[in-house]
Amino acid sequence: DSVFASIVQAPEDPILGVTVAYNKDPSPNKLNLGVGAYRTEEGKPLVLNVVRKAEQLLVNDQSRVKEYLPILGLAEFNKLSAKLILGDDSPAIQENRVATAQCLSGTGSLRVGAEFLAKHYHQRTIYIPQPSWGNHVKVFTMAGLSVKNYRYYDPTTRGLNFQGLLEDLGAAPAGAIVLLHACAHNPTGVDPTVEQWEQIRQSMRSKGLLPFFDSAYQGFASGSLDADAQPVRMFVADGGECFIAQSYAKNMGLYGERVGALSIVCKAADVASRVESQLKLVIRPMYSNPPIHGASIAMTILKNSDMYNEWKIELKAMADRIISMRKQLFDALSAKGTPGDWSHIIKQIGMFTFTGLDSDQVAFMTKEYHIYMTSDGRISMAGLSSKTVPHLADAIHAAVT
Ligand code: PMP
Repeated sequence: DSVFASIVQAPEDPILGVTVAYNKDPSPNKLNLGVGAYRTEEGKPLVLNVVRKAEQLLVNDQSRVKEYLPILGLAEFNKLSAKLILGDDSPAIQENRVATAQCLSGTGSLRVGAEFLAKHYHQRTIYIPQPSWGNHVKVFTMAGLSVKNYRYYDPTTRGLNFQGLLEDLGAAPAGAIVLLHACAHNPTGVDPTVEQWEQIRQSMRSKGLLPFFDSAYQGFASGSLDADAQPVRMFVADGGECFIAQSYAKNMGLYGERVGALSIVCKAADVASRVESQLKLVIRPMYSNPPIHGASIAMTILKNSDMYNEWKIELKAMADRIISMRKQLFDALSAKGTPGDWSHIIKQIGMFTFTGLDSDQVAFMTKEYHIYMTSDGRISMAGLSSKTVPHLADAIHAAVT
């Protein structure tokens, strides 16, 4: 008998499991709206032109070797990543108050940040929005933090429960860590307004709560890298500390290359330098040092102004296509006279729409229409096209009538 004979079958990941089920479905009309990856109008994955260009440059450069990177990764990539999220003229960068590590995309950046906090920070409690990306609770728990929720989404308005959010953060113990989605909240697509962000900032700073930003969609929400970074920049501008996990999966389409960065903004350069030294001790036993290829692509694009501008145009085109899918789905439901208020489809931001459909309605749409999505009713707008919008509208109509 195997020594592992007693191991039980683990459940499928709730998000990645949607794709597993989709792949098994033989229907020609099947539609995968589960996974958060961009698709073209033709339903194909997209490699940005500027990414192809950068890869070509890297391949042609005979001086490039496959040596290990330092523990913190490519120094220039780190600098440029901090600039991307904090802004070109950020005093925090100029004053050397930012410690940055190249990490394995957004997830790895969150995990390294969480491991660092569990080891070095006096508060072990992290507050995450209700609901949040499903992996947050697991990443933070595995790192040794204790996870609590703050109210965020209001199902009756399909918008932000701002009062509940302020009350819950107001009741959090001093110093508690607070996970904030920098923009394009996943799964709800509901973001605070700039005025609300300012109130959140004041409330958190007055209680000494530590902001940990998850920035997985910079540029993807509005089409503008600067606009989507504004909440982070408001917190950094007040001079206080802040953690930021960045992912290039969506905005550069580098999903499987696992490109990201963790930045820890400190109040003084000497603190940042000691923090950086300790970050290395966190990372070394986890994976020693990060992979070289994807970060080299991102660095090539970020440091060349022509390529950077080309990237911004391609990024805006992805964001615009998603925004246009929202409009088309909303118009299709309006045209059918589908009962209910569907204006949240065009009000919400980013890759996902939180439809408000319940798990029975989702199951119905999967069974009868071969449409796959997470059971919380979240659909990826990036997986839709003009051709598939009518099919989805039919399914939603049938599910609610
Ligand atoms: N945070 C949020 C909110 C996300 O939606 C995602 C990706 N779905 C991530 C982090 C991490 O993604 P990755 O590790 O692929 O960068």
